[in-house]
Amino acid sequence: MGSQGTIPPPIHVFMVSFPGQGHVNPLLRLGKLVAAKGILVTFSTTESHGAQMKKANKNISDEPTPYGSGMIRFQFFDDAWDYSKPEGTDLGLYMQHLESVGTERLNQLIEENEKQGHPVSCLINNPFIPWVSDVAETLGIPSAVLWVQSAASFSCYYHYLLKLVAFPTESNPELEVQLPAMPLLKHDEIPNFLHPFSSSRYIMLKEAILGQFKKLSSPFCILMDTFQELELELVEQLSKICPIKTVGPLFKHPKLVSPNGSSDDFRGDLFTADSGVIQWLDSKPMSSVVYISFGSIVTLKQEQVDEMAYGLLNSGLNFLWVMKEPYTGTGYLPVKLPDGFLDKAGDKAKIVQWCPQEQVLAHPSLACFLTHCGWNSTMESLAIGTPIIAFPQWGDQVLDAKYLVDVFKVGIRMCRGEDENRIIPREEVENCVREATSGAKAAEMKENTLKWKKAAEDAVAEGGSSQKNLQAFIDDIITTCT
Ligand code: UDP
Repeated sequence: MGSQGTIPPPIHVFMVSFPGQGHVNPLLRLGKLVAAKGILVTFSTTESHGAQMKKANKNISDEPTPYGSGMIRFQFFDDAWDYSKPEGTDLGLYMQHLESVGTERLNQLIEENEKQGHPVSCLINNPFIPWVSDVAETLGIPSAVLWVQSAASFSCYYHYLLKLVAFPTESNPELEVQLPAMPLLKHDEIPNFLHPFSSSRYIMLKEAILGQFKKLSSPFCILMDTFQELELELVEQLSKICPIKTVGPLFKHPKLVSPNGSSDDFRGDLFTADSGVIQWLDSKPMSSVVYISFGSIVTLKQEQVDEMAYGLLNSGLNFLWVMKEPYTGTGYLPVKLPDGFLDKAGDKAKIVQWCPQEQVLAHPSLACFLTHCGWNSTMESLAIGTPIIAFPQWGDQVLDAKYLVDVFKVGIRMCRGEDENRIIPREEVENCVREATSGAKAAEMKENTLKWKKAAEDAVAEGGSSQKNLQAFIDDIITTCT
């Protein structure tokens, strides 16, 4: 890949991502699909995250690089935030700061691009940074949003914010929630920060996620990384309210998939993947490995790690466990495996800081995925066909788990019950692993995952719902911007 002697295409889509792995991955996947259709795509996020991306992936470059019939390049901005200061971990303060600094920097970047002959034709952002729509509106540039959670989560937030449906209250905390075209949700199946008694540490997340819903009239399109067939009636219902287009699973579109099932050109990883994972998986028998990952933010309590470790070991299966250092800014403490555990586990266990997740999920040695049910992980495992052990922690993860288990029927739940602080003992972990990997339930789950895998492949194939929606979106950009 190189850029010498190539003239960037006239239409320029500028993408701004909130700095977080679960935000960067889907937006960059969309960026590649848009660029492949003959458009110049600039992908932007904060400089500190940009530096991490560059470290983890040598293809990330400031120079426009040909991609399909278009081009892609990266332009990061300094968020002027000191992550090491005591309040560096305060999400609320950071969000306010990012809005004021980000608005200024984005305006500067747009002006610079104009001067350099690359005027911005369209802005696309993901949730948590709704001020990007304000910048677009002020400058008269069309804008769109990529929603990075499920349509079901979108519907929950939308109906909550506009008070269209009754949600649990302090006087009625166990109220069940009935949203249109969705199953009845128990009080602990809605995104947890919509609950009146959810911990105060989630308030900022609630504010951050709801912020986007106050700007819904600005974007001309709300793209969703889900597919129509997965959330059928709900997508139809939401389409009557907002200009939504389902375009997922974004990672699965044919242009992005290499022969080994991974998107291997411009990956958005913020961490460097362990290089020995695939070789280790290759050495294991078919369907013999449990993959454990809680995404980029969640860190379990030390006591839970201890119980999980012995539960996994006692199950007799092999296991690959992503145990990354906690993200700067979350306030989580690093956890470790019990003393002497790795000697006992021997070659049955592989512990890594980060791995190429889509490649891992697609590996024949994999039996199941023990996950926190972040939406990206949910979509990836559904579209690859991997059964799930759901262990949601907070936010939309609880709702994703509900759908994975009760609606899509591809998972079982590791259940805390009424006490959200309960530690799941090793015997329960072991039983869950056994149930998800052998016997009638495991067979039923596997059958269902293969059904969703096929549906996902059909959605992104030529003539499929997501492929057609994506093309319609790109056609909209082209007609609006020329
Ligand atoms: N991921 C990865 N390697 C890992 C762990 C996670 O590539 O070792 C990716 C995963 O494929 C997904 C993203 O990180 O695309 C995590 O997003 P998700 O929405 O599942 O969780 P979040 O990090 O937002 O909680």
